[in-house]
Amino acid sequence: MADAPQPLVFDTKFQPTADAPAQILPGVARITANNPSPFTFTGTNSFLIGADTVAVLDPGPDDARHRKALLDAIGVRRLEAIILTHTHKDHSAGARALRAVTGAPLWFAGPHRLSRPRRLFELNALAGGCDWRLTPDRVLADGERFWAGGLPLIAHATPGHCANHMSFGLEGSEWLFTGDHIMGWNSTLVSVPDGSMADYLSSLSKVIALPYRHYLPAHGGPIDDGPAYARALLSHRRLRNSQILDAVRSGARSVDQLATRVYPLLKGSLRFAARLTLKAHIEYLEAEGLLHVDRGLFGTQLSLA
Ligand SMILES: [Zn+2]
Repeated sequence: MADAPQPLVFDTKFQPTADAPAQILPGVARITANNPSPFTFTGTNSFLIGADTVAVLDPGPDDARHRKALLDAIGVRRLEAIILTHTHKDHSAGARALRAVTGAPLWFAGPHRLSRPRRLFELNALAGGCDWRLTPDRVLADGERFWAGGLPLIAHATPGHCANHMSFGLEGSEWLFTGDHIMGWNSTLVSVPDGSMADYLSSLSKVIALPYRHYLPAHGGPIDDGPAYARALLSHRRLRNSQILDAVRSGARSVDQLATRVYPLLKGSLRFAARLTLKAHIEYLEAEGLLHVDRGLFGTQLSLA
């Protein structure tokens, strides 16, 4: 059956040399920042796009060595724009200093915002990682075509990981810069209210329908068959939804009990991330009318709707 999803297999073999440019295709070079972590994998990929003039996509963290690597790779060429996939600091924190040094304008979808209003007393676990005060010199709209480094790009709004997330297609090619929306090394973190599972799932479907075959994520290596991988991500999330409903059906009442049943082997920061993703699934299932969620002072009580 042609449409059957492939199993979700993560590619963790990527081993970049930090701050060393790698030519990916004509007019596109990748420079990985030296900020590896359980959340950033081998670090944030900055992309240099163009030939005679260039644009930087995701300048990465505010790190002097990474900035020097970007400036060395730009050389004497004019930096036309600094473009962001989204305003999490591992992508955007280096933008201010790069803008100050080069005078290049900053283009992205608009200031950081939540996917929905915060509930009373609700904690945003990602608040410290968001670049709240960064504003664009030019706001990019969904579907907008623009030139960057002499190459034609299209902005595609792909909210879910966070509300202002965009992917960028290299028009007339098979390549899509997917930021943190789709990465080959792991499924992305979706944490409410910064992100939204419903948005993430529709952004996956949206990207699958676009005419791009190869994806260039902001962490990890390229994804050769992007749409097949995105379909696997989509069915992975659907499977997670039914696992959650099954766990509640068999007695899990709290997020902790769910985490123990759905992710029995995870420890430490990965278990923390898994709990955040579970909360995003719970909210999605609640909005779908499949789960009843009672948010009390002493935690969340789950039952089937
Ligand atoms: Zn990131």
